[in-house]
Amino acid sequence: MVAKEPTAARDLGSRIRRRGLMLVLSSPSGAGKSTIARNLLESDSSGLELSVSVTTRPRRGSEIEGVHYHFRTMREFERLRDSDALLEWAEVHGNFYATPREPAELALAEGRDMLFDIDWQGAQQLKEKMRADIVSIFILPPSMKELKARLKRRAEDQESVIETRLKNARLEIEHWKEYDFVIVNDDLDRAFAEVRAIVAAERLRRDRRPGLFDFISGLLDEKTE
Ligand code: ADP
Ligand code: 5GP
Repeated sequence: MVAKEPTAARDLGSRIRRRGLMLVLSSPSGAGKSTIARNLLESDSSGLELSVSVTTRPRRGSEIEGVHYHFRTMREFERLRDSDALLEWAEVHGNFYATPREPAELALAEGRDMLFDIDWQGAQQLKEKMRADIVSIFILPPSMKELKARLKRRAEDQESVIETRLKNARLEIEHWKEYDFVIVNDDLDRAFAEVRAIVAAERLRRDRRPGLFDFISGLLDEKTE
């Protein structure tokens, strides 16, 4: 169970109109990004939504169509890509993954926050298109040994798939410098608290809060006698 945000966090300050933010989480496979993302989605009472990606990868036993991914054939994926329905796409570990364009653009236009669990290639593409709206976090494992142990413990992929993911981990980690924040996921509670702190601070950024103009002009007009 994850604690909900305190009610105070939703008081006056958070009612001031602001732009939505696009929270990008990336990590080598197995570092714990999906676990942190899930905790965040469950605990965030301010309505952070998950961008549900399209993928050609086979569905894992625990995954639900439309919740974790939109599972599609390669032919369907190509059709989406060719009709410009994808905001970004990439090949990762031999499968294709993409962010559907419409939900993300709508969320941004309506001032809702969205979470993107995507790799460094996707993060680069989103940054090129929407730099001002992106907050990116790279999650590292405490060690490569622990990364391997987590991939095995997750027990949702075949041995050969785990080997590919481990091999790719080093290449992915090389992209750490492209992110705004870097978190080492040693202790899950602490890593999660760090992600929440980043989200809370980013929501308060002045340039994300056009509503401050009205609020402050109201403050200055207010009579105290
Ligand atoms: P990713 O989405 O980065 O591929 P997951 O979130 O699926 O990784 O995590 C991989 C495995 O590691 C899961 O079994 C998860 O429960 C476990 N895990 C995540 N964070 C930690 C942590 N801080 N300590 C120990 N195990 C963890
Ligand atoms: P998994 O197969 O473990 O769910 O995901 C493998 C990798 O693909 C992870 O690094 C994940 O972040 C990335 N990924 C998932 N969805 C997308 C997406 O829509 N776009 C991109 N570029 N990467 C994605």
